[in-house]
Amino acid sequence: MGYDLSKNNRENLMKLAQQGKIIPTELAIETVFGCNAKCTMCFIDDPTTRKKRVMKMDLYESIVDQMSPYADQINKFDLWCLGEPTIDKWLAQRVEYAKKKNFKRTAIATNGEALDENLGKDLLDAGIDTIIASIDATDPDTHAKIRVGLHYEKVVRNFENIIKLRDKNNYKTRFIFRFVLQDSNRHQYEGFKEYWSKLLDPQKNDDIYSYVEHNWGGYKGNKQKMLGNRYDEFIEKKPCHYVFESLCILADGNLALCPADFLEGQFELGNVKEISPIEAFNSLAYKKLRKLNLEENKNQIDLCSTCTILYSNAQRGWTWNDEDNKGSLDRSDAKSYMKL
Ligand code: SF4
Repeated sequence: MGYDLSKNNRENLMKLAQQGKIIPTELAIETVFGCNAKCTMCFIDDPTTRKKRVMKMDLYESIVDQMSPYADQINKFDLWCLGEPTIDKWLAQRVEYAKKKNFKRTAIATNGEALDENLGKDLLDAGIDTIIASIDATDPDTHAKIRVGLHYEKVVRNFENIIKLRDKNNYKTRFIFRFVLQDSNRHQYEGFKEYWSKLLDPQKNDDIYSYVEHNWGGYKGNKQKMLGNRYDEFIEKKPCHYVFESLCILADGNLALCPADFLEGQFELGNVKEISPIEAFNSLAYKKLRKLNLEENKNQIDLCSTCTILYSNAQRGWTWNDEDNKGSLDRSDAKSYMKL
């Protein structure tokens, strides 16, 4: 699926990186930087010089056009970075455009509040491949504490309705119910699985998984406190897959390195209004970051040294590779961090 980051392949990757020949295997476009909620574990409202905005349609189309020759290599196309994609009036149009250009695995993650029947039908008609549901609770009180500003009953109803519509008309879209484990909701995960698994269909590749909340590179929590004795030298040294695989383009056209960089886009990797996405993905700034990663020195990058995202990733019992996920709904363990 992605790049082989094992020691055996690092020399090879170093050559490719220094020659500027790294092609992303994941594309994430921030269609909206903004949200209709104030979730406790998210950093979208933390201070930043970035302005809240919706990405202009002509910029979006230009990125999709320039990336379409690589559509076969892109295993996953997220139409969000930091923000709620359903508050964008062009969302279904954007999905349709990406599907016309042969992108597979188009996906959104949504809190469900604005996913009413009209938008739901538009997205299914547009051919969206995956809708990730972010609810994180099984009762209104817990939901209100975590997903501040949203309405539990409405969210549940919206997801139930769109799943029914999908089933009734046999759309191919799949649903993934993702649960971010936190102190306030950990006890609800079993009930969450039980409830939603009755509505989901493994034949359509629907799924449920959980992961432990991370600290967004240190913006939301101290690494040492969060990890305690789970701190792991192997994870600290392992090159980060985001640096090689994920082309993340923010709403103003600037690149972000990874989810921890979504708030600020602090690395000056390039802007796709000025250079092509592939040129930006192989900029000098990227080359330096890749070299540090391949030499097992990623913690010389401040953001990486304070980040717990790779621990959260390692704990997920779920991957985007369908072969890995064959079987029953829910493969997540989430009791301990698994070794990579
Ligand atoms: S280790 Fe964390 S901050 Fe560094 S590139 Fe990976 S996800 Fe981003």
